[in-house]
Amino acid sequence: MYPKEPVTIVEVGPRDGLQYEPDFFPTAEKIELINLLSKTGLRRLEVTSFVHPKVIPQFRDAMEVASNLKMVEGIIYSAPVPNVKGCERALETPIQELALFVSASETHNRKNVNMSIDESLAALRQVADMGLKAGKRLRGYVVTAFGCPYEGRVPIDGVLRIIRAYAEMGVSEVSLGDTTGMANPRQVVEVFETVLEVAEGTAVAAHFHNSRGTGLANALAAYQAGIRIFDSSVGGIGGCPTAIGAMGNIATEDLVCMMEEMDVPTGVDFDKLLKAARFAQEVIGSELPSYTLKTGRPNWKGAGGTDLG
Ligand code: ZN
Repeated sequence: MYPKEPVTIVEVGPRDGLQYEPDFFPTAEKIELINLLSKTGLRRLEVTSFVHPKVIPQFRDAMEVASNLKMVEGIIYSAPVPNVKGCERALETPIQELALFVSASETHNRKNVNMSIDESLAALRQVADMGLKAGKRLRGYVVTAFGCPYEGRVPIDGVLRIIRAYAEMGVSEVSLGDTTGMANPRQVVEVFETVLEVAEGTAVAAHFHNSRGTGLANALAAYQAGIRIFDSSVGGIGGCPTAIGAMGNIATEDLVCMMEEMDVPTGVDFDKLLKAARFAQEVIGSELPSYTLKTGRPNWKGAGGTDLG
């Protein structure tokens, strides 16, 4: 039930996390945070987004961030590109991976990008071609893969259709996103068992938000179903109590702690990760939602340690 096979963690805090932060996270500090994360053993970092700055002002510095990182050999640096324009900008930077987005829910996709799913897929085909020609790796997000706040249950056929379309475009990895934190562990197992059966040749990742406190339970369920790639956000950035509510990804250090406690290797240095999380917390200026940022790892030696009762 719980094998000890290693997992790969895709750090999405500097993108998915900061996307929900109401205040601008200064450019120099973004670069510093990503450089700190580059020293933790994480091998996959999503560092910014090439959406139009008017849509998400937080990423108006995307070019600057992506061009000024101390890129570490062996790490894949990634960023979402919503369209050809964004792709052109991304291709001027040393980013190695482009992330594509489409929602499995027709209504959510329209609200998000003002296009039908088919229109989105057609537009993304162009972006994928551009990226592949430039030698970039492609990652494809299936947004609202487990549930949609407008449509409720999202039929698995819609998810599979997008995965097939991505595979045809040359996407090497798909990430199934529980964008608004609606999924439950039983559903997660069912969805991933089906997806892994049909996804031949395409790697599959799990992307959970902790809106209802089920994020880590869902990650464990996905692991049991055979998933070995997980998206998470350092400090759980993006889940601060703001007008939008708690929307953050599961915190990377919480995921690392759980997996390592289960003897599942992550390759990530927990203490260095906490250093990056503390830095992010300082810049944001309010407490981040991460648990282990407050408690640390369990202290099995019994000498002191943190016990909050
Ligand atoms: Zn997300």
